[in-house]
Amino acid sequence: MPTDRKFVSVDDAEEPFFAGVDVGGTNIKIGVVDNLGRPMSWLSISTDDQKGAQDGAERIAKAIKRALADARLTAKDVPYVGLGTPGTMDVPNGRILQTHNLPGWSDSPIRDLVSEAVGKPVAFVNDANAAAYGEFWVGSGRAFNSIALLTLGTGVGGGVIIGDLLIEGENSIGGELGHMVIDYHENARMCGCGHRGHLEAYCSATAVVKRTQESLEAGRASSLRKRRAKLTPLIVAEEAETNDELALEIIDDTARYLAVGIVSVMHVVDPGAVVLGGAMNFGGRQTELGRRFLARVQQEVALRALEPLVTRTAVDFASLGGDAGYIGAAGIARLAYLRKAK
Ligand SMILES: [Zn+2]
Repeated sequence: MPTDRKFVSVDDAEEPFFAGVDVGGTNIKIGVVDNLGRPMSWLSISTDDQKGAQDGAERIAKAIKRALADARLTAKDVPYVGLGTPGTMDVPNGRILQTHNLPGWSDSPIRDLVSEAVGKPVAFVNDANAAAYGEFWVGSGRAFNSIALLTLGTGVGGGVIIGDLLIEGENSIGGELGHMVIDYHENARMCGCGHRGHLEAYCSATAVVKRTQESLEAGRASSLRKRRAKLTPLIVAEEAETNDELALEIIDDTARYLAVGIVSVMHVVDPGAVVLGGAMNFGGRQTELGRRFLARVQQEVALRALEPLVTRTAVDFASLGGDAGYIGAAGIARLAYLRKAK
């Protein structure tokens, strides 16, 4: 979701500057960020992945030029570009593999295509890891040495950052927190990836709608019944605001499933903070319902986590909204630049 984030002007910004690109299934966000992670300009273009990766790379290059002009900068002011993409990737080789998120870009050397089109070195990263780095650098994780981010949207994304290190793993699957197994039963819910029992199958927006539909089909009385044709987590939240019992139960169950996954992350990583991002936050910190959801997650974590973590690990909402991806991608470009400069 676009935000009303204030831009820092070139006169107040700190050099060097970096461009961050956050590729989504529908839109690509491109932003210019200063050395302290403050956005200087921001724009969005449509992904149109069916036109192919080469076309996409060229349009990204043009959009970066526009974003730089908006920030009163030129290409020479930016030493590195950061690029975050969704789906299955081969990060070391800069490739998108077969992916249902961006079918038109499947099996493409997207990092090098963008690098050639822009004329700059490109730091390549998974989109959820980029968002995690954004929150770690300047968002809800900025006070901590390590964070785990879970993004609740159509699917459940994840990223783990430990002291400027992204946990990408040997096969670019590191930090895929949505695919943690939380239910081993044969009839466990089916995940978007085709396996059963993964966190995403319980806590994504898709799963929330599916669980609600199932309860309605089973005959539960609820004010959601008259809105069942177009159910979304937002509608579940609206009915929960009117104290509909089923809607509240769906949200509480989501908090419990999520907590089961969070506790596993805590026991593997022991991060300073677990941050919840993505569009599905039931109102977030600004609403009573959102705060109730967060409190439920914390309570359910407390029932399952080893003692020091219950009091010491922060569990909070993300704070950068839809800006986390491009800010984080720019931050990863900055890391690549700093490592090169050493
Ligand atoms: Zn899965």
